[in-house]
Amino acid sequence: MQDTQMRRLYEAPAYDPAWPKSHWRASHPAPFALPPLEGEATADIAVIGAGFAGLNAALEAARESGARVVVLDAVQPGWGASGRNGGFCGYGGAKLSDAAIVARVGRDGARDFRDFQRAAIAHVGALIDDNGWNARQGPEGEAVLAQSPKVWAGFAQEARELQALYGETPELVAPGALAERGLSGPGFHGALILNEGFPLDPMAYVEGLARLALAAGVRICGESPVTAIAPDGGGWCLTTPGGRLRAPKVLVATNGYSSDDLPRWIGGRNLPAFSAVLVTRPLSDAERRDQGYTDPRMAFDARKLLHYFRHLPDGRFLFGMRGGTSGTQAAHRGMETQVRRHFEALFPAWAGAATEHTWSGFVCLTGSLAPFVGEVPGAPGLHAAFGWHGSGVAAASYSGRQIGRLMTGKPAHLPDLVRRVPRRFPIASLRRTWLRLAYAGYALKDGPLPGA
Ligand SMILES: Cc1cc2nc3c(=O)[nH]c(=O)nc-3n(C[C@H](O)[C@H](O)[C@H](O)COP(=O)(O)OP(=O)(O)OC[C@H]3O[C@@H](n4cnc5c(N)ncnc54)[C@H](O)[C@@H]3O)c2cc1C
Repeated sequence: MQDTQMRRLYEAPAYDPAWPKSHWRASHPAPFALPPLEGEATADIAVIGAGFAGLNAALEAARESGARVVVLDAVQPGWGASGRNGGFCGYGGAKLSDAAIVARVGRDGARDFRDFQRAAIAHVGALIDDNGWNARQGPEGEAVLAQSPKVWAGFAQEARELQALYGETPELVAPGALAERGLSGPGFHGALILNEGFPLDPMAYVEGLARLALAAGVRICGESPVTAIAPDGGGWCLTTPGGRLRAPKVLVATNGYSSDDLPRWIGGRNLPAFSAVLVTRPLSDAERRDQGYTDPRMAFDARKLLHYFRHLPDGRFLFGMRGGTSGTQAAHRGMETQVRRHFEALFPAWAGAATEHTWSGFVCLTGSLAPFVGEVPGAPGLHAAFGWHGSGVAAASYSGRQIGRLMTGKPAHLPDLVRRVPRRFPIASLRRTWLRLAYAGYALKDGPLPGA
């Protein structure tokens, strides 16, 4: 059986191979132009997707095991979410509460998954520091801001649970202390500060990673969309417009840019969803003080449809959010307006600070709300790593490294939670409808924006 043709869930403009007009692309104006796959080729390991997951897997397999690795990307390294995200390198990967994780994999399983997330953050930090990439953008830690007094009232209990389950000691900042901590805004009612994680420049990171992989002997082919995956004499054959690549082992690392039929197994198990970001012009110190929001750490609110934001080192402000269920150009323009409206509601003193760039891209949910990292059942040699639920900077990177180890016969740190095969969404053809309904429910639960 051959799986073919890149059947994707959204309208074509969402997959436009042009680079998004992002702050990161503007500040790194020379993208890779790696040549496509031409003719016949072989490898020990073929990787589909040159984002954090695919590149980390390739680097690990080539550098630590001497494997011959070829990476194929439909566009170029970092064109997917890895080159267009908010740069929050923190906890994440699953869209499950701690209680739901415990219910699924037990307390030890939950701790293992938390260790995995911590190791993921450390892995990215070590890559950046060991290779001298200019990618770190601020201090460690992240602030979770309560969007209502009711949510703030639950933070004390959450802190106790984090302590009991994971031995962590988050700091609580009461509403009255937010201003002196530079965390104030009309929509913030207290904060919980975690000590881990750090902000980074995602383009500096992904480009550094691609260069390191190339230096380790990995062949990366740009402009090489895989249009078919077929079994081939005990291995696999990948077809692109210009060539064919045969390998006994394949990793599908396409996450939110996956096709429902590459391989067909993945279709219905994943649900790409939009995240959108704006970056303002640089703010002056006086403007920051006027708003009362000066803390340089990564921050987000506790909404289901969360807002995430941080100051950039050059004074610009980055603000992002989830939402939108259409990939048309009109929908994209609507999303730009919506992000700006939410930004101004939460940071009204900066309503005069023009947006320089707004862009969006796909994150990826799974039917089980947890990532999958492993071999595809019933398809020996075919592996997949996806489903970071909007928090993949650390999780995709470390999972990539671990699957690179698994594929080269090395012990890998893969917690129970990420090894479980995600279930399919019910009536997979209605996934966008489910998302629309979920967003409507979340919006009700999250409550109005300040001033609305
Ligand atoms: C706007 C936005 C903001 C975000 N902010 C954050 C954040 O602050 N912190 C955080 O942790 N996470 C964030 N994320 C999520 C994070 O960026 C992703 O989870 C992560 O980058 C996923 O990496 P990946 O390698 O799995 O996939 P991607 O980086 O998406 O790479 C997939 C690659 O597969 C390629 N591909 C797809 N199909 C084919 C094919 N058929 N043939 C060949 N190649 C193919 C694509 O071209 C693409 O390059 C954000 C995402 C978005 C979109």
